Amino acid sequence: MTETEHRSLHVPSLEEICEVFKSGLQKNYAEVSVSVVDCPDLTQRPYCFPVKGLRGKSRITDVGSGRNVNNKRLDKVYNINTVANEINLPGAYFLGAGAASRKSLGMNAEMIFSVQAKTANTPSVNRSYIATVNPSDGSCDIDRYRDKSCDDDFMFLSNLYACEGKPGKVIEVNVKRRTGQDNFVSCMRKSLTDHYGEKAVGIGGTFIIQEGKAKIHLMPREFPTYPIIRSDDADRWLKFYEMNAPLICQSVFVSHDPGLDLRLEHTHCFSYHQEGGHYYTDTTPETVQYLGYFHPAELLYRIDRPPVGPVTGEQS
Ligand SMILES: [Zn+2]
Repeated sequence: MTETEHRSLHVPSLEEICEVFKSGLQKNYAEVSVSVVDCPDLTQRPYCFPVKGLRGKSRITDVGSGRNVNNKRLDKVYNINTVANEINLPGAYFLGAGAASRKSLGMNAEMIFSVQAKTANTPSVNRSYIATVNPSDGSCDIDRYRDKSCDDDFMFLSNLYACEGKPGKVIEVNVKRRTGQDNFVSCMRKSLTDHYGEKAVGIGGTFIIQEGKAKIHLMPREFPTYPIIRSDDADRWLKFYEMNAPLICQSVFVSHDPGLDLRLEHTHCFSYHQEGGHYYTDTTPETVQYLGYFHPAELLYRIDRPPVGPVTGEQS
């Protein structure tokens, strides 16, 4: 682990964020309902997280970068327990999106994070999923991380929401039938940017695509033989899919980058029907339905910002 920088985030009330989300979502969905509710018990299906809720000392944590790929820092391995210590929250629960470690798995894979870091007295509880391309037929393979590795590592980047996992009030977002162009997360993120400008607001949470299909990518198990410099290099390498609901999505987004070279939104999803990966948007605007639970973060941590290099694509 190298340099860690941190900033305070702007933390509006949950009620105020509801109104801001509503203003953005109503321009993009036919039916919109946003309210403050008690978080459902996230230890229950379909979530099966190791914690009940999304509250307590919340932090956005942006680790590494896609530039680790084109800067040839492919061997950059991070560890969730080390990250928990770096953000002064040992035992934190993490959700979000990133890349699984090749050293742990012997291949590339999308990581769908849901993991509680270890403490001095308790082991980690890693309920993350990995999604990979099946080399025999190109289909998606999805596995519980713990079935494949006993560590809590990941590689070259991740976008994480960390908290104590406490129950309590969160923002519930329920939308149906997309009428606009932006994806579900971008609608909420841009509504925050429009309202708060340079006062950065960071949000983490989980949502379910309940009906419809979504555009998803997976990194192939091996890196390409050509360098990934531009986004079309990444697009040539990545495999794209249309996947079926229900998809459970782990999402992190920030309304404004205060000069820390952040990725502003990143969402990965898993399912119980062998589909999952990196979320772009739904492909069925007429029928799509989303239900999500979100909470703002108090602090923003930027860990191991890599040297400036060429602009990267959307890999991992
Ligand atoms: Zn991704």
